[in-house]
Amino acid sequence: MACVSFPYDAPVSQTLFDRASLVTPGGVNSPVRAFRAVGGTPRFMVSGSGPYLTDADGREYVDLVCSWGPMILGHSHPEVIAAVQEAVARGTSFGTPGEGEVALAEEIVARIEPVEQVRLVSSGTEATMSAIRLARGFTGRAKVVKFAGCYHGHVDALLAAAGSGVATFGLPDTPGVTGAQAGDTIVLPYNDLAAVREAFAAHPGEIACVITEASPGNMGVVPPLDGFNAGLKELCAANGALYISDEVMTGFRTSKAGWFGVDGVRPDLMTFGKVMGGGFPAAAFGGRADVMAHLAPAGPVYQAGTLSGNPIATAAGLAQLRLLDDAAYAKVDAVSAEIRGLVSEALDKEGVAHTVQAASNMFSVFFTDRPVRNYEDAKQQEAFRFTAFFHSLLSQGVYLPPSAFESWFVSTAHDAQAVERIAAALPAAARAASEATA
Ligand code: PLP
Repeated sequence: MACVSFPYDAPVSQTLFDRASLVTPGGVNSPVRAFRAVGGTPRFMVSGSGPYLTDADGREYVDLVCSWGPMILGHSHPEVIAAVQEAVARGTSFGTPGEGEVALAEEIVARIEPVEQVRLVSSGTEATMSAIRLARGFTGRAKVVKFAGCYHGHVDALLAAAGSGVATFGLPDTPGVTGAQAGDTIVLPYNDLAAVREAFAAHPGEIACVITEASPGNMGVVPPLDGFNAGLKELCAANGALYISDEVMTGFRTSKAGWFGVDGVRPDLMTFGKVMGGGFPAAAFGGRADVMAHLAPAGPVYQAGTLSGNPIATAAGLAQLRLLDDAAYAKVDAVSAEIRGLVSEALDKEGVAHTVQAASNMFSVFFTDRPVRNYEDAKQQEAFRFTAFFHSLLSQGVYLPPSAFESWFVSTAHDAQAVERIAAALPAAARAASEATA
């Protein structure tokens, strides 16, 4: 590991960003990468190894993003790389069924008891979009309940997040989503079972499904209150709707069986992505066999994909999942707890009000001293302090998600040396957060 200092400019990244901005809207292929929430130049990364990323200027960072979750074994894990190399040597895509897909599906079904059958797709967005279509096809109903602050990918109907209160019809949150596409979406405050009960009462026989992040990470980490997921399941069952647990982020990360392995609430359908692809585009949805039987070609609900079950992606995903045993989760959980403790200690020392929230090894730091139970709470934090904290850490070689409303991710590769680097950078970052002004 090279020992480098961190002058704060990033000339090569800046040049690349300028080039990118000419040919790609905003210079990036996914908005949060552009650093708009924190300002500054996005770092263009050229390689990753274990817990470290190296940018185009040759600087190394301890990575606390892990590609937004997937890299739970760290970067360039030798066994994952070997599986990919072995697969790629046999060809990159066949457009036919292959054994790798069967093996990956078997691994998912073996790990997650409510998943009796599973269909592979290429992104989390595709998984949630398909699960919603299937729920509508299965129930013959149109309406979907989602929660403000929960992100399920850029599915038209699920980008509606406006409004709070009971049975508020979603307004499109982005131009390009029509009222018709969002009009069947009911957006409710997270962790509010009474609101869900009232929505079912207001729309008898109309709600196809409730979709929720199993434990939300997209407004920062906001775990479900005790009994919330169980209550959702019960209300869905009582009203003939399907309970869809979106485990794209938590799946195979928060335990061997994802968040289901933590709370044991049995969904009708589940969605997966991130970790199960080993850093490649692989995702899935699955659940009750009687519901999945409605999918084409077994049933009438259409769903397809040219690259679904791609042999390289399935090889990477399978290799990664097979390495994720109880010991691996214990390791990730332990390093997460250690980093959380260090962050809190540093912020306490500088008297910075904060709340660290965790869901197994996923966690985030809210700059408020009040617990965060929903999106409204999350928005009350002093996000300007996060900006100062982020830039101080970045300048010292620690790469955080560039937004106060995201989960931080660690891996089995985050060893004592990586933790030491974080620990060394935290005092100055906490001071920067304390001195920041709105
Ligand atoms: N669902 C959840 C809970 C997510 O966190 C994400 C992405 O962050 C998605 C769905 C969408 O996945 P993708 O970005 O692979 O389309």
